Amino acid sequence: MSILTSLGAARAALDGGELDAAGLFALARERARKLDDGDRPIRAFLSLSKNGPSAPIKAGSAGDGPLAGVPLAIKDNICTSELPTTCGSRILEGYVSPYAATAVRRLEAAGARVLGKTNCDEFAMGSSTENSAYGPTRNPLDRDRVPGGSSGGSTAAVASGTVPVALGSSTGGSVRQPAAFCGIVGVKPTYGRVSRYGLVAFASSLDQIGILSRSARDAAVVLECISGFDAYDSTSQDRPPPRAAALDDVDLAGAVIGVPTEYMGQGLDDRIATLIEETLAAASAAGATVKEVSLPHTAYAIPCYYVVAPAEASSNLARYDGVRYGFRASASDIRDMYEKTRGAGFGAEVKRRIMLGTYALSAGYYEAYYLRAQHVRHAIADDFLRVFADGVDVIFAPTTPTPAFLLGEKFEDPYAMYLSDVYTVSANLVGIPSMSIPIGEVDGLPVGGQLMAPHWEEERMLGLAARLERQIDFELPEVSP
Ligand code: GLN
Repeated sequence: MSILTSLGAARAALDGGELDAAGLFALARERARKLDDGDRPIRAFLSLSKNGPSAPIKAGSAGDGPLAGVPLAIKDNICTSELPTTCGSRILEGYVSPYAATAVRRLEAAGARVLGKTNCDEFAMGSSTENSAYGPTRNPLDRDRVPGGSSGGSTAAVASGTVPVALGSSTGGSVRQPAAFCGIVGVKPTYGRVSRYGLVAFASSLDQIGILSRSARDAAVVLECISGFDAYDSTSQDRPPPRAAALDDVDLAGAVIGVPTEYMGQGLDDRIATLIEETLAAASAAGATVKEVSLPHTAYAIPCYYVVAPAEASSNLARYDGVRYGFRASASDIRDMYEKTRGAGFGAEVKRRIMLGTYALSAGYYEAYYLRAQHVRHAIADDFLRVFADGVDVIFAPTTPTPAFLLGEKFEDPYAMYLSDVYTVSANLVGIPSMSIPIGEVDGLPVGGQLMAPHWEEERMLGLAARLERQIDFELPEVSP
C-alpha cells in the first residue's frame, strides 16, 4: 500500500527515516503531475505548491503529531495565503487571499503541508465537478465517469493515492456524495463545529468544511485538529473537539441504528439497496439493533434546499462586482462594468442560482418562497430530532441513489443533477453531522453508506463508522497513472 494512502503510513515512513517531509512532499507532487499526463487527466488539482516544507523536516524532528510533515489537499474555495483561491470560477482567476482559513491554519500549525488546491464545481454549486471553469475532474476509478461534486478534486486526490487526507466543503452533499462515488470516507461535521472563516461563502446557513480520507480514523484526526471556537466565525461553537482516541470506546454492540423508510424506496438502485441491507445485517451480527424509522418530510428536502441555498448564494455572490476581487471586464461605465464582469465571470449554473435566489428573495415573493422554505426546514429538522429522541443513535441510509454517472450524462439536465443529492441535503438543512463510508461496489463502481447522528455526536458517529469499516472490509483498487 502506498505511503500516501493513510496518515499512519505516511507518519511511519517519516518516523522510520524512509524519507523526510520534503521527500514525501515531492513524492505527492510527482504523483499529482503524473495523474494529469495523457489525454484523460484526472485534474484533481488547480494549483500545486512549488515549495514543499520551507525548512526541511528530518525524521524524528517532525514533531509527534499524526499530521506533522504530511502533505494534504485543500478545496479551491478555502483560502490559503500562498496559492490562488479561485472557487473554480473565472471571476476569481488568479485571486490570492491575504489570509488563510482557520482550518488551514490549524492544520499547518499541526505540521501538515498544503500540496495544492483542488478542482471543484464553480462556487461549490454542482454534483459532478463539471461546473468548474477550468474543466472537469475525472473519477480516478473510471475516467469516463464523474468523481461527484462539488469537492470532486479533493476526493480524487485522496482516492488516487496522492494525499492521505483533504479538505472539502459541504452545503448540501459535496463531501459525502463524491466520497461515495470514489470509494472513500467523507465527513460533514455539525454546523458550527469547524470555523467557516476563510471558506468562501455559498449558502452561509448550510456551509461547513468537511474531510475526505480513506478511513474514519484519519478523518477523526483531522476533525480533532480543525474543530473548535474561532473568534472570526460567530457561528463556530465553543465545544471541546471530538477526540480521535475516543473512537475505540464506541461499539456496535448495543447501538441502535435507524433506517429511514423514505430513503429506501423509489429511485434507489436495487443493487445499492442490497448493499445497505448487507451492511445492516453485519451490524446486527455485531450486536447492533436495527430498526425502521420514518422521516416523513424527506420529499420536501430537495425543493427546500433549492430555495434556501440559491437565496443565500444570490446574496453572498453580490460581492463579485469587478471592484474588489479578481477578474474585471473593461467597460464604459460602472454599471456596464458590473454587467460585463458578472456576465463573463460567472458560469451558467452560478447564474441560474443567482436568478433563482434573487427571485425567491424579492419583495412579494419572500414569504411565498424563502420564509416558506424555512418553515419546511424546521419540519425536516423535527423529523430527525424525533427519531433521535426515540433512542436512535445513528441513522443509516444510502449516500446516493446511483453510483458515479458518466461525464456529460446529467450536465444538460440541472434537475437530474440536483436529485443526486436527494439523500444528503437534509443533514445540511438540519445541521447534524453526517458521513459516507464505502460499503461495496456495483459493476466495479464504489457505493457509499451514510451515517447521520444527532448534533455534536461526531465521536459516536465516527466510532460506529470505524466499526462498520471492519465489518465491511472494502478495499479501494490502486490507481495507476
Ligand atoms: N450539489 C449541491 C448543490 O449543487 C450541493 C453542493 C455543495 O454541497 N456544495 O448545491
